[in-house]
Amino acid sequence: MRALYLRKHGEFDELAYGVLPEPEPMPGEVTVAVKAAALNHLDLFVLRGIPGITLEMPHVGGADGAGVVAALGEGVRGWEVGDEVVLNPGVWCGECEFCRSGEQSLCVRFGLLGEHRPGTFCEMVRVPAASLGRKPAHLSWSEAAAFPLVYLTAWRMLMKRAQLAAGETVLIHGIGGGVALAALAIARRVGARTIVTSSSAAKLQRARALGADETIDYSSSDVAREVRGLTGRRGVDVVVESTGAATWMTSLKAACKGGRIVTCGATTGPQPAEEIRLIFWNQLSILGSTMGSVADWKAMLDAVSRWELRPVVDSVVPLERGRAAYERVEHGSQFGKIVLAVSSDVAASEE
Ligand SMILES: [Zn+2]
Repeated sequence: MRALYLRKHGEFDELAYGVLPEPEPMPGEVTVAVKAAALNHLDLFVLRGIPGITLEMPHVGGADGAGVVAALGEGVRGWEVGDEVVLNPGVWCGECEFCRSGEQSLCVRFGLLGEHRPGTFCEMVRVPAASLGRKPAHLSWSEAAAFPLVYLTAWRMLMKRAQLAAGETVLIHGIGGGVALAALAIARRVGARTIVTSSSAAKLQRARALGADETIDYSSSDVAREVRGLTGRRGVDVVVESTGAATWMTSLKAACKGGRIVTCGATTGPQPAEEIRLIFWNQLSILGSTMGSVADWKAMLDAVSRWELRPVVDSVVPLERGRAAYERVEHGSQFGKIVLAVSSDVAASEE
């Protein structure tokens, strides 16, 4: 099968495009013929090597994908060859105390497709049958590949962890990133007021077109001060954090008394300065969130179909030009998801 893979950990030069053996499904697993896959920051971390995770090389990256069930392993029920599916990027053991209580993303052996096992940047991927979901009918293959990781992440952050309610105000940093855009779409449907930030006037304009209520250019203004101005000095109920070091102090200052800061990542660095006095005096809740449970996955898929949510696709790059896609993620200029067209019937949109 054709694949984009890592020869070894390193920089973009270690990415190769070529032919690898096709996987066979193990018991309880299926193979999926990938139509399209999507990149995440995670793919850059995997390229460079993650401490504590040893990968067999060559390694195929990619947590996000959509395609058609190609073969069923022993004991798989409820799925047929030819079913159109999207993939839950999470992989869990099903046996530990957290899995048994329905909290699969707390699994003691939790892993991700493309990180802990071979991923979606290839023509055929092997996944647990429990990771499958029905492809929402209103989405193209590129859109279907683009939403699972970021929508699942944003869903759990807002709906399960922060319990965002109608009428509340939410601050979303760095609009243009996949989680931020998914959070904007979900928060709007919940009936929350949304404030988004970017250093790009063009991205803020696009965010307004997507329904953002307020926008702040963080390159030319003090975001916490602007947020106070927009909320009658009160601050926001919920802050969606995925950037880390660059925004953490702003998040603490922008939250209202009793506010919730929910974090799923640290793309600008994991060790921010922390003003502990703000946390206790304002009685803030700092909520961690990773991926989502099976219940979150099902609720999110149902909402995407019912509300006809559509992920924003920045560009669609042919698999053989995958290095350019990795470089685009690194550069950070994208608005929405960067998709790889794996199957020849998925059109590329590259400029
Ligand atoms: Zn488990």
